[in-house]
Amino acid sequence: MSAAEPLVIVGASYAGTQLAASARELGFDAPIMLLGEERHAPYQRPPLSKGLLTGKTSVDALALRGPGFFADNAIDLRTGRRATAVDTAARTLTLDDGTTLRYGCLALATGARCRTLQVPGADLAGVHDLRTLDDALAISDALARATRACVIGGGFIGLEVASALAARGAAVTVVESQPRLLARSFPPLMSDYLADAHRQRGVALMLGHGVRALIGESGRVQHVELDDGSRIGCDMVVMGIGVLPNTELAQQAGIACDNGILTDALGRTSEAGVIAIGDVANTVLPAMPGGPARMRLESIQAANDGARAAASALAGQPQPFGGVPWFWSDQHDLKLQMAGLPQAGDEAVLRGDMQAGRFSLFYLRGGALVAAHSVNRPAEHMHSRKLIAARARIDPRLLQDPSADLKSIQRETES
Ligand code: NAP
Repeated sequence: MSAAEPLVIVGASYAGTQLAASARELGFDAPIMLLGEERHAPYQRPPLSKGLLTGKTSVDALALRGPGFFADNAIDLRTGRRATAVDTAARTLTLDDGTTLRYGCLALATGARCRTLQVPGADLAGVHDLRTLDDALAISDALARATRACVIGGGFIGLEVASALAARGAAVTVVESQPRLLARSFPPLMSDYLADAHRQRGVALMLGHGVRALIGESGRVQHVELDDGSRIGCDMVVMGIGVLPNTELAQQAGIACDNGILTDALGRTSEAGVIAIGDVANTVLPAMPGGPARMRLESIQAANDGARAAASALAGQPQPFGGVPWFWSDQHDLKLQMAGLPQAGDEAVLRGDMQAGRFSLFYLRGGALVAAHSVNRPAEHMHSRKLIAARARIDPRLLQDPSADLKSIQRETES
């Protein structure tokens, strides 16, 4: 691209904002336009399913960047604008108000949207999903009038929301179609631990149940009917049944997609001049024996790191995406921290005490540490990220032994 032609970024959440910021940090001096569909300036999303619902976090505390950041960095932020079409031959983007923008590089950071439940009653009042600040405010508002909540989906959204609603005093039931919680991210031992933890903290779980219908009265949800005909009474429903990548713009422009927009480790798509980052990007991962070749990583860390990699290429100093994936989740009094991508068949090694809610599960593949899940063990999580990056081969007896210092093991692998 020519240096003077603008970088136009579609999507103003973590990936889009980080791309703009990193491009400027690396000396990219062409105009940058950052387009957001929501009316809000970029904001932090983790509190939407946690502190914003419990009341511990206020809306004012959510800004992703400080006042003046966008103007100070010559980033032209435009909110409340949706991109409707891309013409890759003419290098133009059309917006919902009919404006046509010319780009030198187009970044698609369009994210993902909530999957919707395809059952009768899914459109009743009192049925919510959670992706945006406005969604979270609507749930918080509904909760002020609700005593019984049903959460559909036992993934990260569902379990965080269940924790927050329980903390606000609601009687909460979680319905999950899989026979265990977080089945895609966790092995059975972790799923079972979490199920016990939620039950002990007063959340009812209905595992292995589909939803047949939502039943209402006067247009407002009253019951969730399960596939066995049983009913759960509720004043409100929150759905957290996964997301779908927003690939429409890319598909319409003929850009290769397969569960997201296909990119290399610098965010480059099949179309020159178009990059994709964040939840919408299905990105090549660093080679890991037995690991996936590419993936859509739905995490803030992947959005930020993917954006930094794409910015490095734009600035002519390419540094491919390649770190260890990590993310976290707060549920009740439990801080879950996850590093790496465990697979079925990995050897799981426990360190600490599951019953006491302070432990790490390490996963070894061919003798090398590939992943770790920690509960209320932040230091172990930090060390494990470095050990995984180093593909450290560690004796399982050392990992298990609480007196064996992980920091020293990490230093040994670095030396
Ligand atoms: P998710 O993690 O994919 O979990 C959704 C769960 O709902 C899955 O277990 C899914 O089972 C189940 N499900 C699907 N259809 C169902 C149905 N009809 N009835 C009952 N259960 C059903 O997605 P999510 O929890 O909705 O989260 C959405 C996004 O936000 C993800 O990108 C997530 O990573 C992100 N997020 C991240 C964090 C964090 O990192 N702490 C926190 C909140 C949200 P199947 O797998 O069989 O479909």
